Amino acid sequence: MNPIKDHKGEPANPSTALAKRFHIGVAGLSCECCTFSPLLSGERDFMVSVGAELLANYGFFADYPDVDFTPLRRARALPGGPIEPAFYDRFKQQLRGELAAHAPWDGIYLDMHGAANVYGRDDVEGDMLAAIRAVVGPDCLIAASYDLHGNVSERVIDSLDILTAYRTAPHLDWLETQERACALLVRCLREGLAPSMAFLPVPILVPGEQSSTEFEPAAGLYATIPQVITDYQLLDASILIGYVWADEPRATGSVVAVGLDAARTRAAASDLAQQFWAVREQFQFGVTAGSVEECIQLARQTPSSPVVISDSGDNPTAGGAGDIPFVLARLLALGAEATLVAGIADAEAVTVCVQAGVGATISLPLGGKLDPIHGQPLLINGTVVSLHTVPWPANAKPGATVMPNRVAVINVQGVHVVITERRTPFHQMTDFTQLDLDPTHYKIVVVKMGYLVPEVDQMAKRALLALSPGAVNQDIEHLPFKRIQRPMFPMDRAM
Ligand SMILES: [Zn+2]
Repeated sequence: MNPIKDHKGEPANPSTALAKRFHIGVAGLSCECCTFSPLLSGERDFMVSVGAELLANYGFFADYPDVDFTPLRRARALPGGPIEPAFYDRFKQQLRGELAAHAPWDGIYLDMHGAANVYGRDDVEGDMLAAIRAVVGPDCLIAASYDLHGNVSERVIDSLDILTAYRTAPHLDWLETQERACALLVRCLREGLAPSMAFLPVPILVPGEQSSTEFEPAAGLYATIPQVITDYQLLDASILIGYVWADEPRATGSVVAVGLDAARTRAAASDLAQQFWAVREQFQFGVTAGSVEECIQLARQTPSSPVVISDSGDNPTAGGAGDIPFVLARLLALGAEATLVAGIADAEAVTVCVQAGVGATISLPLGGKLDPIHGQPLLINGTVVSLHTVPWPANAKPGATVMPNRVAVINVQGVHVVITERRTPFHQMTDFTQLDLDPTHYKIVVVKMGYLVPEVDQMAKRALLALSPGAVNQDIEHLPFKRIQRPMFPMDRAM
């Protein structure tokens, strides 16, 4: 298939284009979907934004006084298992109706992640973008911002005019990436530019935990992007690490270049793809990684504290269920003290704690219910230390819809365990302090995370990555892949 796509619109006259007003629609879909997870993502998991609430996410739209932005709908969910087909079909149908109702369009901006999966289907973004293109027609410019852990396909590229992805992991540049996508879109409209894109899959899949741009090889690899843009006179370029826990044919690393000269754009993509391929052997965990037992022993031997252990196989922000009590079981078996486990999702257990009350003794099966394939409930006996109700999601922007999240902190043999009603990442210090917990007072803090996000990293005197069981198990060479393209690095090292 020809990887180059030329926009078919007639170039407008720049002098008249500047005086014109432009009509841009705003929509999006974000859910990183782990196909190894039995936990389907549906209505209860998605935050759907429409109208003024959706527009409120993009304050930078004010930079474009000549553009009328019309909010359509955006659905976002915490990473999880595949999306329920009925939810996606309804979302797509509503979006198509809104696109038709508010036509005609000069442009569409799509706030995407890129690694969604609808249960039993492939390439959901390809399907969604093709549906949008069918409504808006070939002359409307469509720009999308992606997570660098998104998986791209020919169908995605065929429907888009502009794709740009994050250049940092952790994703400190999420806002910058949205702004870049919109700036490119508006610039192309104002100047009547017809961008072409070059897309090259690179047969590499690395776990997200090895893709941090805080260390090599991703740091150096991503640092080359601005130079490649300059050298090849591009509009933009992206390197997508891809999402490994999605067993479908499009799952792979890739590069995308956006330019005005098709041949030069293709050459730039080839250059970036070769640079990506050249560093494949260098991807590694940025911190000491080991089995759960090894990490607990190492943490206990470390003189400074707290030592933060990432329970990486069950990381809810990568698609894990976030309810597997495996690390807690090992901590209790090894007699760990002064330890905080944050957290384990279990709505039933929270209800038991709430009904028992603070100070009460409780006995219950904890966790292992959302993901019974990779975990099992752990029978615990403890006391209820404190009860809370906090907003969920914790990082919601002002004005965004939030839901209540009941939380119980319990003490089990001297280990403090946070039980949450909803799947809850602990990424900010306020996630702890709002529960009256000071993580710096503990010897060991266990979080369900991969590489540590900045606030937790700053708090940690030492970080360890536990290769724990779960839907996003970091031992990717032994995942039961059936449908990804082969050969693929590192599964087929001899390729
Ligand atoms: Zn990501």
